[in-house]
Amino acid sequence: MHYFLDVVLPIPLERLFTYSISKAEADFLQVGMRVAVPFGKSKIYTAVAYNIHNNAPTAYDAKEIYQILDEAPLVNAYQLKHWEWIAKYYMCTLGEVVRSALPSAFLLESETLILPNKNNTVNDLELKDDEFLVYEALQHQTALKIGEISSIVDKKNVLPLVNRLVQKGVVLQKEELYEQYRPKLVRYVKLAEAYSSEEKLEELLHTIARAKKQSQVVLSFFQLQARTKKPISITDLEKESGGSKAVIKALIDKSILEEYFIRTDRIVHTSEKSRKTITLNPYQTEAFEAINFNFTNKKPVLLHGVTSSGKTEVYIKLIEQYIQEGKQSLYLLPEIALTSQLINRLRDYFGEKVAIYHSKYSIQERVEVWNNVLENKEKAQIVIGARSSLFLPFSNLGLIVVDEEHESSFKQFDPNPRYHARDAALVLAAYHNANCILGSATPSIESMDNVKKGKYGYAHIQYRYGDVVMPDITLVDIKEATRKKRMKGHFSETLFNAITETLEEGEQVILFQNRRGFAPIVECTTCGNVPQCPNCDVSLTFHKHRNQLRCHYCGYHMALQLSCLACGNVTLDMKGLGTEQIQEELQEFFPESTIGRMDLDTTRGKYAYEKIITAFEQQEMDILVGTQMVTKGLDFRNVSLVGIMNADSLLNFPDYRAHERSFQLLTQVAGRAGRTKKRGKVLIQTYNPYHQILQQVTTNNYDKMFDEQYYEREQFKYPPLARIIKLTLKDKDYNKLNEASEWFASSLQNVLLGHQVLGPEYPPVARIRRDYLKSILIKANRKQSIAQTKNSIKRIEKSFNAISKYKSVRLVYNVDHI
Ligand code: ADP
Ligand code: ZN
Repeated sequence: MHYFLDVVLPIPLERLFTYSISKAEADFLQVGMRVAVPFGKSKIYTAVAYNIHNNAPTAYDAKEIYQILDEAPLVNAYQLKHWEWIAKYYMCTLGEVVRSALPSAFLLESETLILPNKNNTVNDLELKDDEFLVYEALQHQTALKIGEISSIVDKKNVLPLVNRLVQKGVVLQKEELYEQYRPKLVRYVKLAEAYSSEEKLEELLHTIARAKKQSQVVLSFFQLQARTKKPISITDLEKESGGSKAVIKALIDKSILEEYFIRTDRIVHTSEKSRKTITLNPYQTEAFEAINFNFTNKKPVLLHGVTSSGKTEVYIKLIEQYIQEGKQSLYLLPEIALTSQLINRLRDYFGEKVAIYHSKYSIQERVEVWNNVLENKEKAQIVIGARSSLFLPFSNLGLIVVDEEHESSFKQFDPNPRYHARDAALVLAAYHNANCILGSATPSIESMDNVKKGKYGYAHIQYRYGDVVMPDITLVDIKEATRKKRMKGHFSETLFNAITETLEEGEQVILFQNRRGFAPIVECTTCGNVPQCPNCDVSLTFHKHRNQLRCHYCGYHMALQLSCLACGNVTLDMKGLGTEQIQEELQEFFPESTIGRMDLDTTRGKYAYEKIITAFEQQEMDILVGTQMVTKGLDFRNVSLVGIMNADSLLNFPDYRAHERSFQLLTQVAGRAGRTKKRGKVLIQTYNPYHQILQQVTTNNYDKMFDEQYYEREQFKYPPLARIIKLTLKDKDYNKLNEASEWFASSLQNVLLGHQVLGPEYPPVARIRRDYLKSILIKANRKQSIAQTKNSIKRIEKSFNAISKYKSVRLVYNVDHI
């Protein structure tokens, strides 16, 4: 009897591959274990075992596997089932899902690049012979492929060897060189070394005795130390001593106290007793009960709670129930941006049970969380994460929370699988027989539609927590203000005066500028030329601090020229208004104030994002100017004014969701204002104050927004009233692309009867990274099976792939969310 193994290779090929295995291997192997296998002429891949059987493949001779890499499955049956659903639904291959689901450390292959770890001093006596060979080779070469390591040690299978080297810190995988996300740092203080002896200490107290405030801080420091035996954060010291940050800073400057940092996710919360308990207010309690009622019927629930209504507390109460039953919970967030504030809040209640999972975490950290979840460990009972945490090996999932469910960043746009994490979460919850709660202050049209259709339960919180009133939102007509000459630069007098007043009261301001359509460009006033990206169909944008023109799509950049590249005249003019320009203009108006900026540029570096948020939280900044990033669910206590520089570019964006998104975004930004006792103020500058969406934002009228948008979707056949699939074709050859997309569109038209096939059409940006793009939109009739429609499309794709002249054309599918 012969034994065979079907595996999933992490590559974009549709089918499984069959290898031959021995009887012993067949007995040992379980589905979900990894195996190293040869592929093609000389490649090695890590693949996932999928099926063990006795049927030899008919089309080819099965090769033998190299080795089994795991003692127990790394992937469980729930995951495989879910990944197959993702592949089918989002029209990609199971291999692509595997590639994206498993941390790259689990997927070593012949092409993986291995580099020396320069930060680690290696004791070569501790290395085995083959390890030493690799170590030595890397002293002379900057990088080695796994395949090359194979020939160095003269062994076919070197993955276990490389794994050992990675674990010993001798080598790094290429991916690890990328910038790594670090969670928020907390500032702590300790007494400087110099004062560790009794005498020195007495001397110190003597010398600062006359500086009353300083000695109070030092005394408080000792009291805290005696009481808690834990690190003392600056915030705690401030509270205990009643001294200000300035006094603490003075002590640090004098080298009496020393400052140090600990990552919030590394702080150990030991004492069970110090944990907070939550008492829900009556509105929260009502919502909580409605949610649980629906959960008993296994219905997902939409929690629609206004900004600052305390949705997080409701989630925490829910999670508590599952913890008590010993079940796992997953808390999905749309962006890392939100995690640091949330981690702290959850750790306050659940201490060490909270793990964080994010694609920007280092490979080691991700592997650690993966294993903890796999083994159902206590310390990974609650996982907070971005969309990739859906792929973790949960075996006992009780609850999934999808926070800010309306956020478009739950959708992965590139590469495959192009899935929507909220929708995939609902499926995952169903497989586990778990419950799922979607929360938002501005629910997506789809989710609200599902509520109305009775598919989801519904819970509503209409009031902010702690009797805080909703912010007062006012529209400012800048057309009118410009006509009456009531503008100061880009600020209407109304906004300008409001900023002045807020600063005078010692409160903080957030100013929002839309990222799109406002990037500054350079235009020649003589010939009208605007420098374009040579690879993409867009203008280059001006980045002042580097004095560069850059492309936002491909990263192309060039130094700013003094004269026009087209006509040579020295008549260049800046157009557009980015966050950087606003920050500058403000600094001139308010020279005394500290003005920070949060956008793609300022959040690139290590810790950058955390630093800005922490500085703003700690009120080291008066005004924060930012793009979309400042709108997310951040909870700042001292912000009483939010200004929106210009709402129009949001509304005018050519996308059927533009109005829904504008409503969500503006309501969310507004929600950052006045989250404590005092009523917050929001000013929205616009040329178009009668726009219905702006009216709906100011009156907080979600229902009206929903009805109008729903009507429009009905008229134009967009989700949730039709299902849409967008197919984008890409090629470097313009003519070939046109021909290929015509071929595809007409085939679709012939086959997909009863559905609408629109295009091929050039998208708004029709060339990216030297590729021309064309897209075809399929609006599927809801009455026909979408699975069948997708099968038909896939069949056309097969015929398309068989046409040799179209070989270079690449296809991208986006399902539901385009
Ligand atoms: P949302 O997520 O709905 O915008 P949050 O959960 O951030 O609102 O709550 C707003 C503020 O109110 C937070 O600072 C939170 O700690 C506080 N809060 C909400 N509910 C409670 C509660 N039951 N007990 C104590 N504080 C609460
Ligand atoms: Zn470009």
